[in-house]
Amino acid sequence: FWKEALQQLRHDLSEQEFMMWFKNLRYESSRQDSIILAVPSVFYRDQVKQRYQRIIESKLQELSGSPIGIDYVIQAMESAVPTDNNGNNGNIKEIRTEEVSRAVQPNAAPPIQTRASVAAERTLPRQKHPHLRGDYTFENFVIGENNSFAANAAIAIAKNPGTSYNPCLIYGGVGLGKTHLVQSIGNAAHMNFDAFKVVYVTSETFTNEFIQAIKDGKNAQFKSRYRNVDLLLIDDIQFLQGKDQTQEELFHTFNALYDANKQMVFTCDRPVSELKNLTARLQSRFERGLNVDLQPPNFETRYAILKRKIEEKGVDISDEVITLICNRITTNVRDLEAALTKLIAYADLLNKRVTLEIAEQQLKDVFNNTRTGNISIDVIQKVVADHYSLSHNDMRGKKRTKAIAFPRQIAMYIVREITEYSTTEVGLAFGGRDHTTVMHACQRVESRMKTDSALEPTIQQLIRSIKEYGTNS
Ligand code: ADP
Ligand code: MG
Repeated sequence: FWKEALQQLRHDLSEQEFMMWFKNLRYESSRQDSIILAVPSVFYRDQVKQRYQRIIESKLQELSGSPIGIDYVIQAMESAVPTDNNGNNGNIKEIRTEEVSRAVQPNAAPPIQTRASVAAERTLPRQKHPHLRGDYTFENFVIGENNSFAANAAIAIAKNPGTSYNPCLIYGGVGLGKTHLVQSIGNAAHMNFDAFKVVYVTSETFTNEFIQAIKDGKNAQFKSRYRNVDLLLIDDIQFLQGKDQTQEELFHTFNALYDANKQMVFTCDRPVSELKNLTARLQSRFERGLNVDLQPPNFETRYAILKRKIEEKGVDISDEVITLICNRITTNVRDLEAALTKLIAYADLLNKRVTLEIAEQQLKDVFNNTRTGNISIDVIQKVVADHYSLSHNDMRGKKRTKAIAFPRQIAMYIVREITEYSTTEVGLAFGGRDHTTVMHACQRVESRMKTDSALEPTIQQLIRSIKEYGTNS
């Protein structure tokens, strides 16, 4: 049934999804009412469980006529290097499609190709690209709701550059994975196609090189460098704002590459329409093709990312501590990583296990830094009241009906999350309540988030609106 199930699933899912999550699933054995699948790591297991367990089970049930459960065993693919109990199995390297399709068909009895050998074979002739970070790969990129559209587009582009999504512009706030994603496209394309010319630059470098070329009278060289590429990746185009001559040059570069069906991918920290001092014609070029955004990761994705990083680094950090970090750092992945790095350094230097208390204490600054200090409680109350169709006064009033009390608690929670106000100050601002009421409100919201999966995205959205409101007014 497994083979049949796989074939049907392959049909139901997008190619990228299938490749990403099923290529390393291996049928191991079966019992009466369950099958055992081998996965390469704990991380992989958690992701597959979270995303596909239900679909796989229902497919198996459909085919077999009775419910079949799934158990997992962690099994690194290297035969020579046994995995430890944590499933640490070294770096996951790009595996090409041919190997993948063989690997997922258990009955085809493929020669067991170890991951290490696949990786070695593939990477030997072409080492990693000089301009690209070797660890910015799709394999190292955790996909969640917040980034799946962008990630799948990126994967598709790396497979078929210059075809459907050209140009592609990925936008989103700081630390959400823009650079990681564009460089992954470069790395994967570089692996997939022989002699593929990839150029990755930030728009600042592009600008500087351009200015230098003018100074040195090397305009022609500059032009040919950027117009003879197969894949042009330009990171952070917001820095082009106000640089008219560079914009002009990029406009012509764009047209040349576009006409030659060469792939371009850009990133920007905001939607292109919000850029200022950008010529209309360049703006319209950026908006051609596909524009996709990256959102901040939700709790589950933050958790998966941290788990993943911890596995990569082979360090021992408890799930409790991971949960703490994920609860407190909601802004972006860079901040999450910073927190982890700090804890690892601490554990390393003092040779101590990181307890919850130690984590709290060590990360005090990190937690505080990710709060934005200058947003007023008023703004938060207004935005939350508005969202729930209440009045601003309801936030500060005495009414305790459910329809009012819970939004009020959410507002308190948000104040505590994104500002520096003490619980006492918050209580005062919410109609003279005392600090224990505020603490209780925060706990209540936190525990509701655990049972109501829609709540956290709502709160994240509110926080974004509040920040926008706060900076625009
Ligand atoms: P940006 O360019 O949007 O500011 P980066 O690409 O530099 O963000 O990402 C910041 C850090 O977070 C990098 O170390 C990157 O590897 C990591 N990161 C971001 N998103 C993810 C993700 N989905 N999975 C794993 N790591 C991620
Ligand atoms: Mg970046």
